[in-house]
Formats: sequence, C-alpha cells, structure tokens
Amino acid sequence: MTTNLSLDDKFYSISESIKIIRENISEASVKSGRNYDDIKLMAVTKTVDPLYINYSIDNCGIDLIGENKVQEFLSKKEQLHLDGVNKHIIGHLQTNKVNKIINEVDMIQSVDSVHLAEEISKRSLSLNKTTHILLEINIGGELSKTGFDKNEIFENLDAISHLPNLEINGIMTIPPVCEDSNALNGYFNTMSLYYDDIKSKGLRNFNMSILSMGMSGDYIPAIENGSNMVRIGSLIYGARIYK
Ligand SMILES: *Cc1c(COP(=O)(O)O)cnc(C)c1O
Repeated sequence: MTTNLSLDDKFYSISESIKIIRENISEASVKSGRNYDDIKLMAVTKTVDPLYINYSIDNCGIDLIGENKVQEFLSKKEQLHLDGVNKHIIGHLQTNKVNKIINEVDMIQSVDSVHLAEEISKRSLSLNKTTHILLEINIGGELSKTGFDKNEIFENLDAISHLPNLEINGIMTIPPVCEDSNALNGYFNTMSLYYDDIKSKGLRNFNMSILSMGMSGDYIPAIENGSNMVRIGSLIYGARIYK
C-alpha cells in the first residue's frame, strides 16, 4: 500500500507543480505585456519514467515534451501517450544520430553548428520532408556548453538560410548559472534582441516564432525578457535520477 500511496503523492506533486508554474507563467506574461497563451510550456522528460510523463500528458494538459538524448527517447517512445503531443529534441545531437531521429520528432531545438544544420538538411532532402529547427546560441560564451558562439551566429545565418528542406523557427539558449539577477537578465535580454534582429532580416527558410529560454530555476525572468517557450523538467517531475 505504501507504494500506491507514494505514487499518488508523486502524481499530486506533478499536477500541483504544473498548476503553480502556469500561474507564474501567466503573471510573468502579463508583466511583459503578453498573455498566458503566448507562452508555451514544454515538459522536459529526460530520465523521467513514462508513467509520470503519461500522467502529465493525460491529466495536466502537457502537449509539448523535450528529450535530450535520441536513444533515450526512442526507447521510451512506444510507452508514451503521444497523441497530439509535440516532441522536441533539446540536447546536443551528433550528426550520426540525425537519421535516427529526424522522422520521430517535430523539432530539433539544439542545432549548434552549420555542420549539423547541413546534415539535417541533407537527410531531410532525401526523405523529401522539411525539418523544423531552432538555432542554439551559447549566450554566455561558456566552454562547457554547446551552441553557436554569440559573436559568430550572425555570420552563419546566410549559409544556413540556403540549406534546402529546413525551416528555422527561432533560437534557444541555456544561460550560465548566475548568482546575479542583473547578469541573468542581461543574457535573456541579449537573446531577445538577437531574436528580433534575426526575425527582421526576413531570410529565406527563416520563419521565426520561437524564443526558447527559461528552465526550472529561471523561467520567470526568461519570460519577463521575452521568452515564449520555457523548458521545465525538475520543477515538474522532481530531481532527476541519472542511471
Ligand atoms: C534538462 C534541460 C532542461 C530542463 O532543466 P530543469 O532545470 O530540470 O528545468 C531544459 N533545457 C535543456 C536543454 C535541458 O537539457
């Protein structure tokens, strides 16, 4: 019985967390002159048991999930209730995995090099499909993180815009861990300026609508600085247990 009880507790915690997150999203969206509906909530499901993912889909209105690893997503996929759910890859993608995932997800958010964009383009062309992508920007310039260098992203746009069978829908980032809220706001604000700037260029293959930033610890300031998609994992499902 105790296991059942703790399962119920876990489900309760997931639905309460999502409720609170939605209230906070609503407040932050109003603060930034928008509406709740303008901001998408992604549930980040890496390391999460399909039981809990399905609970959040079936009972809490989650309709967008993000997974980091191709292998993990493919091995969980059959168990997930994915009807009407959008699936995004958000973790670093190796070029040799592109073929495995390209038909399985709705978007690849973590395109961090021209080389990867070229590979996705090539594979999409051979499958006769258009793949939706975001460009990941390493806004803090951290060596430990993937993403386009923030000083080099603009010079790469032209090359990316000429690749066939890609639609570039926006940009995403993971900012550095910041003690200082001014610094954090600065990173988010720079992303917001980049988003507007790239959008205004009207480049071929670019159809900009997504500024993906904000995670469990920083989704509120991210929205206040213009994010329209937050990617939240541990705040919904609890601390991750890596096996
Ligand atoms: C894990 C992950 C998240 C979610 O992180 P939390 O802090 O658990 O909300 C968001 N985005 C990316 C790219 C991630 O890898």
